This record gives sequence, C-alpha cells and structure tokens, in this order.
Amino acid sequence: MIKISKLIHDYIQRDEEGNPSGTIRAIDDVSLDVSPGQFIAILGHNGSGKSTLAKHLNALLFPTEGAVWVNGMDSRDQSLLWDIRQTAGMVFQNPDNQIIGQVVEEDVGFGPENMGVPTEKIWERVEESLKTVGMYEYRKKSPNRLSGGQKQRVSIAGVIAMHPKCIIMDEPTAMLDPSGRADVIRAARKLNLEENITIILITHYMEEAIQADRVFVMDNGKIAMQGSPREVFSQVERMQELHLDVPQVTLLGHLLRRKGLEIPEGILTREELSDALKTLKKGNRQ
Ligand code: ADP
Ligand code: MG
Repeated sequence: MIKISKLIHDYIQRDEEGNPSGTIRAIDDVSLDVSPGQFIAILGHNGSGKSTLAKHLNALLFPTEGAVWVNGMDSRDQSLLWDIRQTAGMVFQNPDNQIIGQVVEEDVGFGPENMGVPTEKIWERVEESLKTVGMYEYRKKSPNRLSGGQKQRVSIAGVIAMHPKCIIMDEPTAMLDPSGRADVIRAARKLNLEENITIILITHYMEEAIQADRVFVMDNGKIAMQGSPREVFSQVERMQELHLDVPQVTLLGHLLRRKGLEIPEGILTREELSDALKTLKKGNRQ
C-alpha cells in the first residue's frame, strides 16, 4: 500500500525578507513499508517529523531525496497527484479546519462531488459513510453544533466518501475529550476491520497504539523503534529516552517487575496485568 525508500525531507528556512537562509532536515533517511489492510501507529514527540511524513503519504510534500509510492504510484510523478490523494485520504488534528459544508451531509458530499462522482451515487456514498462513523442521524445538522469528536467523525466520513484504500490520521484525537477520542478510534478500527482500509494513525496517546499491527516511533526525523505494540512498549526505558510514555498499565507492570514481582514486560491491557498477578498469587500458595 505504501512504500517509502530512503526518504529525506528538508524544509527551507527563510529570513525576514523571505530569502533562503538554511534548511531543516525534518525526515532523515526513512524507509518503511505498509501492507494493504494494516493498522499502523506512528508515535514520536513534538517536532520528530510525524506530520511531515504524513504529508508525503498524501503528496502534499515531495521528497528532497528518496521516494514514496502509494499503491504503486510514485509521488514524484505530478500526473498522479489526484490519484494519490484519492487513494490515501488525510484526516488532520483540527476538525474545524476540515469541515466546510453548512450541513453535515453536504460536507461529506464535497469530496466525491469534486471527484466527479454522479449525483445519485454521491448520496449513496454520503449515507454509507455517515452510517459507518455513526453520524447518520446528524446528517441534516449544522457541523457547528457538533462536539469535537462528532466533527472529527464527520471529517472521517468525508474522507471515506472518496473510497480511499488508505487513511492517514494526523493526531485526529488531540483536540478531543476522552469520549470523543474513543469514538474516533473506534471508527478507525471499524474501517480497518470491516472495510479493510489501511489506517496510519499518528498519535500522542499510547493507549491508541495498543491495537495497531505495527508501531513506528520517530525521533529527530528518523525511525527510532519499530515492532509490534508489545515489542515497542516492553522497552519502557528506551521510550522514556525518546520522551514518550508507555500505556499506564504497561508502566505499572514494569514498575512491579522492577520491585521483583515476576510479571512479563510489555503488558498491554488490564486483563493481562490482572492475569499475571493471579498467576503470581497461585505460585505463592504452592
Ligand atoms: P511532528 O508532527 O512530529 O511534531 P513536524 O513534521 O511537524 O513534526 O516537524 C518536524 C520538523 O520540521 C520540526 O523541526 C519542525 O520545526 C520543522 N518544520 C515543520 N514544518 C515546517 C515548515 N513548514 N517550515 C520549516 N520547518 C518546518
Ligand atoms: Mg505533527
């Protein structure tokens, strides 16, 4: 679905007069592959290059060096720009900057309309997309009246209506309350599991990465760690060096282990921790 090969991205810095004064290397030799249908999480502290990477997947930025292929399409080929953007849809952090329609269903219809989808098909797609994210009953409402989480689900519906194979979400839950966050993540999981849409989720919330097929951790424009959520989160100290947390329950397991309890590293859920503790108790009694 996605192939990134030795990608480098330099931003040009400019002085007050707008003359180039230097460059910032935001992506520094990144290679990675994403297979169709995968759910990928990208973690990393502020300024580590996550958004820059995301914009390459959607042909909003172009490689300084190296290359990016989206479903086999080379982002350096300008003639493929619209095909790439239709294949890999993008959801940004702030839903207010993405919603333009006065009415929810209109907003969701803009994408397919711009793509030249026939009118009757547009309504089918709008209905189907709003149902997928659980916002169909709000279709006649004004987006302004929705909560942040509801708006974000409408933006996701707007992307789904274009029938992308892949959706890139750049911190889609950063501005939401916990229940809005949970709804957005649930919608993303559902698209992945039921529609087989490849999801690339960039997030600050470690808990949101637990269910990913694969996790990439970025630092200073490079991929600093990668693996399954368990492989990545079992390295608590390494994550802390990268100024990142691990899920709370993983940290608790890690601290208990350091106190001498025989608990495996990389506990990801409360159930796993509780099972590990029960096993311990049984062991003590014997
Ligand atoms: P993240 O999304 O992980 O916070 P970004 O990709 O936004 O990271 O930024 C990576 C680096 O690139 C940072 O040092 C940031 O200051 C720099 N950067 C981002 N956007 C621009 C830009 N438009 N012009 C110059 N530098 C930028
Ligand atoms: Mg960012």
